[in-house]
Amino acid sequence: MNNLILVLNCGSSSIKFAIINPNNKKKYLFGLVECLFLSKTYITWKCLETKYSKKCIGYYLSHKEALNFICDNILSKKKDIFKYVIGIGHRVVHGGNKIKESALINHSVIKYIEYAIPFAPLHNPVNLACIKEIIKKFPLLSKKNVAVFDTSFYRNMPKTSFLYAIPYFFYKKHKIRRYGAHGTSHFYIASEVSIILNKKFNSLNLITCHLGNGASISAIRNGVCVDTSMGFTPLEGLVMGTRSGDIDPSIIFFMHQNLNISIKDIHEILTKKSGLLGLSEISSDFRYLEKTYNTQKSSKLSIDIFCHRLSKYIASYMSLMDGRLDAVIFTGGIGENVPLIRELTCKKLSLLGFQIDIQKNLLIKNKKSGLISTNVSHPIFVIPTDEELAISREAMKIIIS
Ligand code: ADP
Repeated sequence: MNNLILVLNCGSSSIKFAIINPNNKKKYLFGLVECLFLSKTYITWKCLETKYSKKCIGYYLSHKEALNFICDNILSKKKDIFKYVIGIGHRVVHGGNKIKESALINHSVIKYIEYAIPFAPLHNPVNLACIKEIIKKFPLLSKKNVAVFDTSFYRNMPKTSFLYAIPYFFYKKHKIRRYGAHGTSHFYIASEVSIILNKKFNSLNLITCHLGNGASISAIRNGVCVDTSMGFTPLEGLVMGTRSGDIDPSIIFFMHQNLNISIKDIHEILTKKSGLLGLSEISSDFRYLEKTYNTQKSSKLSIDIFCHRLSKYIASYMSLMDGRLDAVIFTGGIGENVPLIRELTCKKLSLLGFQIDIQKNLLIKNKKSGLISTNVSHPIFVIPTDEELAISREAMKIIIS
């Protein structure tokens, strides 16, 4: 059981935690805290073969409070497993323009994560709070904490993809550019498809779609990410649970100047009240929207807009493939579990050589992976993501190097 890694993947309203052996992929512990800052905060977790079902652990809990619950009620009671933990891997959304690779956390790495807060205002503060709290809780492991950045995967994007067409000065002086996010997940599923197709990673041409509460798509050419939909912050790109994705920036000026909405409130609208929630006026939860797709107009419209935007991105990324596409991959809570969106999106792409196998598509969900295209189509795969495993591998690599 030796050489285990504790992984913390803190999202804006959730914490995923795991103890993993990165060498054999075995998960000794896995858990999820959901609904932080909401009226009831829940935890679900599994330790080896024992599953602990969903339970409320408090009201309006913050990340720090939830992390304390995990440490005091789970980790400290599983000493037989925890004693083999040799390091901690943290997902950090944004490394700014300074950090390009995973890094052992020290004072200057903490400063860089702080410096990058404006690039990921919903995520980096949470990542930092969890890093600081866990170092306090486990001082013996304080020099073995590794930050794994979502932005690392995008470090080799060409200028043609990462520059915005605004005065060059803003890039040169203020580093305003596309950074991308979700890189750990895109990299993980690309690595998995390299095994499935038995092709070297650096020869792969892929379009990877991570569709969860946050959603993004990446174009990978010869194993290098050459474009991605998330931008300066994780707000740009696809329609998301509560984030707008692409909009005309003039809407912001109009809201501010003509509707007297403050900049702070506009930020709140675009990050927390838009996307599927804003369009449907009911829910950001795809389970609800999918169930009511045929009975509720607003659910149908939200899903149709989601697929319209996604298919436009896939079509445009075909132009970056240099004439050869090895596969399109769907992952994330929606990509893995909602055959409807895979079907609706790929149907729009038939002119480009995509064809879903309806039966295969319907069967693949609930953590199953597989091919969902016909044999005349570009290959389309569903591959469940495993960011925690990818983070544990990175953390182990850094710790033993
Ligand atoms: P994140 O990690 O970005 O918070 P996830 O990847 O867990 O998000 O995806 C969350 C989204 O996936 C939600 O919209 C949720 O409704 C949807 N989802 C998860 N499981 C299912 C399912 N079995 N059927 C339909 N939608 C699902």
